[in-house]
Amino acid sequence: MRQPMVAGNWKLNGSQSSIKSLIDDICSGASELSEVAIMVCPPYVYLPLVADLLQDSSITLGAQNVSEHSSGAFTGEVAAGMLKDVGCAYTLIGHSERRAIYGEQDAVLAHKFVAAQKAGLTPVLCVGETLAEREAGQTESVVQTQLDAVLKIAGVQSFNQAIIAYEPVWAIGTGQTATPEQAQAVHQFIREHITQLDTAVAQKVRILYGGSVKADNAAELFAMPDIDGGLIGGASLKAQDFLAICRAGHESARAT
Ligand code: PEP
Repeated sequence: MRQPMVAGNWKLNGSQSSIKSLIDDICSGASELSEVAIMVCPPYVYLPLVADLLQDSSITLGAQNVSEHSSGAFTGEVAAGMLKDVGCAYTLIGHSERRAIYGEQDAVLAHKFVAAQKAGLTPVLCVGETLAEREAGQTESVVQTQLDAVLKIAGVQSFNQAIIAYEPVWAIGTGQTATPEQAQAVHQFIREHITQLDTAVAQKVRILYGGSVKADNAAELFAMPDIDGGLIGGASLKAQDFLAICRAGHESARAT
C-alpha cells in the first residue's frame, strides 16, 4: 500500500517569525494525523530554521529546487549534498514555475533528478501540461515526454526512490482544480506508462496531484485509486487549511 503524502510548497513566501508560527501550528495539528506523510518545502534560506523546528516531529523537509552540479563555480546555486547536510530529505524538481519562468528544460531536470538521488535526497518530479496543450489533446504526450527524459537517464528503478507530482499548469494557483476524474485519468496514464517498464516500481511510486487543492476538494481527489496525496501551494501557507488537507490524506489512508 502507498502511504498518502501531503507536501506544502511555500514558494517565495515567509519570514522567520511567520514560519515559526506556521510550523508551530502545523506541528500541533499534525500530531494526530499518523496515517499521512507530511512534508514542507520552505525557501532555501529558511531550511535550517525549519529543520530545527521540526526536530521532534515526523514532518519532513524538502527543497523547492536543486542544482544539477555538486560543487564549483556556479554562483547562486545550491547543491543536493548541501540540502541533505541541512536536513532535507526531498527536493522538488521541475515545478512548472521553474520550467516556465526559469526555462528549465527536461534534459537539465533529468540531471537534477540524478544529482538529488546521488546525494540521498528523494526527488519529487513535477510534470504537467499547459491549458493550450490540454485543449490540443496533448496532455499524455507532454507528460510522457517529461517522464521519459528522466527515465532515459536515470532508469525506471530510480523511481523506487522518487515521487511524481502531476500538476496541470492551468490548475496551479488559479483556483481551477482538475476534477477528480481528470486527475485520475492522468495519474493512471503515468502509472501505466511506468508499468510497461516495471510493474513493481509502478505499484510502489507515489503520484501526488497538485493544482488548487483545498480543504474542500482534497478528500475527493485523494479517494481516487492512483492519487496518493497532494502537492499544495497557496493552501500550505495557512496552517488550518494545510492541516485540513493533511487530514483528508490521513482519512483516505484509513479508508483503504
Ligand atoms: C504548486 O505550486 O505546486 C501548487 C499546486 O500551487 P496551488 O496549490 O496554489 O495551486
